[in-house]
Parts: sequence; structure tokens; C-alpha cells
Amino acid sequence: MSEDGQFSSANSADRPTVLEHTRNIGIAAHIDAGKTTCTERVLFYSGVVHKIGEVHEGAAVMDWMEQERERGITITSAAISCGWTTKDGPFSGIDHRINIIDTPGHVDFTAEVERSLRVLDGAVGVFTSVEGVQPQSETVWRQMDKYNVPRLGFINKMDRMGSDFLNAVQTMRDKLGANAHPLYLAIGAEDQFNGLIDLVKMKACIYDESDESGVKFDYADIPADQTDQAAEYREALIEAVSDFDDDIAEKYLGGEDISEDELKLGIRKATLSLKFVGVIPGSAFKNKGVQMLMDAVVDYLPNPLDLPPMKGEDVDGVEKLVNPDDSAKVAGLAFKLMTDPYVGKLVFYRLYQGTLKKGTALYNPRTRKTERVSRLMIMKADAREDIEVAYSGDICALIGVKDVVTGDTLADRDLDIRLEPPSFPEPVISMSIEPATKADQEKMSTGLQRLAEEDPTFTLTTNEETGQTIIAGMGELHLDIIRDRLFREFKVEASAGKPQIAYRETMLSSSDGEGKFIRQSGGRGQYGHAVIKLEPQEKGKGVELENKIVGGAIPKEFIKPTFDGIKEAALGGVVAGYPVIDFKVTLVDGSFHDVDSSEMAFKMAGIFAFKDAMQKASPILLEPIMKVEVSTPDEYQGELMGDLNRRRGQIQGMEARGNVCVIDAFVPLENMFGYSTDMRSLSSGRADYSMTPSHFEQVPQSLVEGIVETSSREPART
Ligand code: GDP
Repeated sequence: MSEDGQFSSANSADRPTVLEHTRNIGIAAHIDAGKTTCTERVLFYSGVVHKIGEVHEGAAVMDWMEQERERGITITSAAISCGWTTKDGPFSGIDHRINIIDTPGHVDFTAEVERSLRVLDGAVGVFTSVEGVQPQSETVWRQMDKYNVPRLGFINKMDRMGSDFLNAVQTMRDKLGANAHPLYLAIGAEDQFNGLIDLVKMKACIYDESDESGVKFDYADIPADQTDQAAEYREALIEAVSDFDDDIAEKYLGGEDISEDELKLGIRKATLSLKFVGVIPGSAFKNKGVQMLMDAVVDYLPNPLDLPPMKGEDVDGVEKLVNPDDSAKVAGLAFKLMTDPYVGKLVFYRLYQGTLKKGTALYNPRTRKTERVSRLMIMKADAREDIEVAYSGDICALIGVKDVVTGDTLADRDLDIRLEPPSFPEPVISMSIEPATKADQEKMSTGLQRLAEEDPTFTLTTNEETGQTIIAGMGELHLDIIRDRLFREFKVEASAGKPQIAYRETMLSSSDGEGKFIRQSGGRGQYGHAVIKLEPQEKGKGVELENKIVGGAIPKEFIKPTFDGIKEAALGGVVAGYPVIDFKVTLVDGSFHDVDSSEMAFKMAGIFAFKDAMQKASPILLEPIMKVEVSTPDEYQGELMGDLNRRRGQIQGMEARGNVCVIDAFVPLENMFGYSTDMRSLSSGRADYSMTPSHFEQVPQSLVEGIVETSSREPART
């Protein structure tokens, strides 16, 4: 950073190709915490955009989609690249490339969060100085814990009434369990917030209020009334870093000086250990603290080389690792699809290994197809820039690859690798959808299919009995947005039926199953025969199919059709016709006929074998359980808890936060319809709640019959 408002930016011609100087980061925040404004300012400072756009005027660069602007939430992750050069510290003077992967804050979009976490290396959590950590930020933070993402905290909106930096840091400790330490302190608060104290340099950074761009500041001595506080927090910072850096620990204990670079490298080590989070105060809106945040991204967040190798497997399921090595064969993950009005289908891609040149053909192990990358681009907000080549660790957009869905591996064919895809949760809610006019039926199907390719938590099926189109997703808002996009992007107006619970089925025990499809009356006969073993798998593990046929009991060419039949049968279980999840099928035996065997016959044998095994495996019905957090003034706590109990809720805990009480519970989604109205009336409108899909649980036996009956009457299953 510089004091005179001049920032260097890495453009495509001189963009750093050195992996050490790349940062792939996400910015995660509760809605309205200021993520969009922060991102926008980062782009401004780094010279990607030249005008500061105001979010509330709808000019922010990150908000691609019109409806996002209207709803004020960033729905879709996009990757944006910019450059940054620090003026001090261990990396000073080196152009760095920062790829920002936008990470949505709304819980209905957990899939977006998951997929972005999969490809980013570090993240910034944005919180507000007034509220501190809010419920949805907790959810995202936990997801980041799961993916081992090193983080920084940015306490935004320091200019707002009631702002309190240190209190917000404390909420990070209390609610997130983060070992959070200020890297800077705030000078003043609310409309008096005019600078930061750099605890590494032990200098004040005072903003020049006369400068309209708001980016200029001067170094000055720490204000007299804050010298003690600064000394105290610097000491706490060094002490915390000592736990991760022996040299610093030794110097600290020996009372020796620690240089700026030493301390920065120590903070970097601590951050990368995942057990330390440095925090910076600021006001994105008033342009304060953002440059410090960008310096911290370069100084403390990991580069692709800092991370463990990425896991994948070869065609036989044997583990294979990929490393960020430019000279190795290409391997990467398609993490996001978008339809761009000018260039068509854009595939956002994280290159984990190798150097990818424009024009290269990439192999997709899912489709077993090779497709050529006709153009390579990096996205600078809404501007696209063609590039000739991408290097390991880069995030870029591919054009020309058509048959691809989110989570696919695209790699050099010879490498034989499939990277671990992000794990996506099962949809919890479904509804039927119908176009306003019959003529739009086909347009609607095309549109929905396109949207389903982009979003793996959105699924689309046709009910065989009624011919209805059924869509399923992570919540009512999620499906509302899908309908909205259908209207805006595909010009199809559609009406939706009542939301239904997306039940699932699984089994409690293992079993053997046999399926035979034999027809021998006249003409050419049919012969397919399969024997399988069915076993339940751990929750969330998905479906696994294994072939253990030896000696050609089923000829090779009929193995896939048999598995296809099993997969098809698993779309509708034996309890109430809902999809079966978390199981393993091993194909163990079978037989064939030289003339009569066909793909179709083995597919049927697979279907019968699965149904047979499922009947014998103690099949059960599963329902989606939501994690519900209700915050209420104390006096309504009793009523609200009673109400949650009546909804089959399991109260997990209760906590006082200031003068509100926060109740945590798991409640079946089935009993959450209409909750917001009831909760408001029980609390005279003063309570609030948030809910996220958590997991699936067995439906109590007493309720199964009712569900089976309703689902056969209203077959909106998916
Ligand atoms: P997002 O939902 O997290 O992307 O948040 P936005 O960036 O859209 O900001 C939400 C609202 O907060 C907008 O009206 C912003 O103008 C406002 N905002 C963002 N940053 C600040 C800040 O530092 N101070 C104040 N007072 N308002 C801010």
C-alpha cells in the first residue's frame, strides 16, 4: 500500500505467474455485513474499477444478476481477479494476484458456499462492528473449519452508531471459538472513526479527510490516550504468535525486539496453522481499513504452495494426489457454471496442477468426453479478459467446454484422475412447477435443466404418473429464486405447487438381493440375472457401487447396464417411493445367455435385484431436520420453547446474548411450515429466527403411514 493513494495493479500482461504470489480468497459474511461493499472497494483500490459504486444505488460490480441487486443478497459466487502490491513487510514490492471467490452468506445457498470453499485457499470473514458475529456467519465459519481454510476477520461499519471493535472481536471468540486477535486497533468510533493503529509497526494510520477518494492516510504517532492500549494488544498479539513460532517465543521471553518482518512472518505461520485469526477494523463504506485488509491478505493468507496436495482418484478408485506444479499434466475442477450473455457458457475452473493453454482439449472422467477449451478468460468484475495460458493455482473461466456440471474434473486424459468433488447436501423441499402457457413447456424444461447443471443442490424430475415437473432445493427462497431466474433469463412464467418435504429412504441392515429378467416366449428372448449385496453407508456418504464379478458370470458389457438399473431403482424406494440414499451395492454374481442377454435385460435384472434387496434390508423413511436458531427477549422464551417442543423440536441449548435469549434446536422441516407467523404472534413480533438444513433422520414409525398415504395421493416426489 502507499500513503499517496497510488496503487500498482497487476494487469494481464504482467500478472504474476509465480505461485507464491497468488492468493485465492473468499469473502464470507452475513447478509448486509458489507461483503459487496468491501469487494467493490478492493477492486477499486487495486485499479480494476475506477469509480467507487455505491451498493445501495445498485452499481456494485460484484452484483451480476439484476435480482441479486433487488434482493440485496449475493446469490451466486463469481471469481474476480485483481492485483495488489504491499509496500512493507516480507513481500513488499512484489505484484500479487488476488482471485476473489465470492461466497454467499445466505444459508439457503449452502451449496454455493461449499463449492466456493472447495476452491479457495484462504478467506476473510466480514462482521459488523455493532452486531458482531451473526447466526449465518457462524454457519459459514463452521463450513470453513471443515475445509481447513485459514482466515482473517474484518470488522466493518466502524462508522456506525454503537460500533465497538473490541466487542466484535470478543464475539468471534465467544461464538466462533476463534483465537481472534486484533492486528490493528480502531482510532475513534462512529463518526469519529478516522484511523487505525498498526500493532505490528506501532504507528497510527490517520486518514486524510480532505481527500475525496478516501484512500490517503499518513503514518503518525499513536494517540496518547491509546498508547497503553496499543502496548497491551501488541503484547497479546506477540504472545499469541509465540505459540506458533519458536524464534518469536524465544525473543519475546528474552525481552528482545522483534522486527516487523519477523512478526509478520510469525503471524503468517499462526494464521496458516488455522488456530489463529488476525482481525482488522474498518469501514468499507468510508474507505477505511480496506488497504490494511489487502496487505493482510498478501502477508498472512496462504498461497497455493502452502496447502496440502489435492486429493483425487484414478479410474480404479486408487488415491492420487495433484500438486501445484506448472510442469505437470493439467488437472482442475469446474466449480461454477454461468451463462454469459456475450460468450455463452462460462465454466469457472480452479487449475490445481499444470499449465493450461488456450486450445487444449480436456478430458472429463464423468462423461468420458474430451472437449477443447476454445478460450480462456479471467474475470475482472463484469469485464472479461482473454488470456492465453493459466498456471497451477489459477482461477479462470473456460469457454468451449459444453458437457459439464458443477464439481466435474477436467484434466489431461493421460493423467487418469478424478478430483474429489465438493460434497453437496440433499435437497429438502420440492414443489411441482407448471408454465403459464402450455406452449412454454419445452422452454421451461430447457431453462430448468440449464439451472440444474449450474446448481447441484437444485434437482429436476418428472413424475411418471402425473407428468408433472418437480423441482427440489434447499428451501423455499432457493426455489423462489429459481422461478425468478426462469422468468428473467428464459422468459418463462411458471406457477408452483405447494412445497413438499423431500423425504429420503435408506436401510438399517445389510441384505442380499436377486433379480432375474427372463422372457422366452417366441422370437428373440431376454435374459438378465444379477445377484447383489446391499449395505447401509454412513450418513452423507452417498451411493457406492462396486463390481466383484469374477470369471465373467456377467459379461463386462452388461455390468454398466446392471448398475444403471440399480441406480434407476434407487430413485424410488420401497417405503414411499422416495430416493434411496447412503448405501453400497456390490454386484457379486449373475448369469447370462449367449443369445438372449441384452443391456435392457440386465438393466431390468438390476432394478429387480435392488428392489428385492431393499425389501429385506429393513428400509426406513428419512426426513430433513433443520437447525433452528431463535433469538427472543427473555420473557417469550418459555412460550417459544414450548412451541418448538410441540413441533417435535429437540432443544440443543440456550444462551443469553445481552438481553436476548438464543434458543438452538433441531426441528423436522415438516413442522416448520408457517413457523414465522406463529413465532411472531407468540412473541408480539419481537423474536426472530434463522434456519438451515442440517441432516436427515429416521421418521418416527407412528408418522410413516400418514406420509405414505399423502405421498401416494400427491405424488410430488423427488
Ligand atoms: P452484503 O450483503 O454483505 O454484500 O453487504 P453490502 O455491501 O451490500 O452492504 C449492505 C449495506 O450496508 C449497504 O447499504 C451498504 O452501503 C452498507 N455498508 C457497507 N459497508 C458499510 C460501512 O462500512 N459503514 C456503513 N455505515 N454502512 C456500510
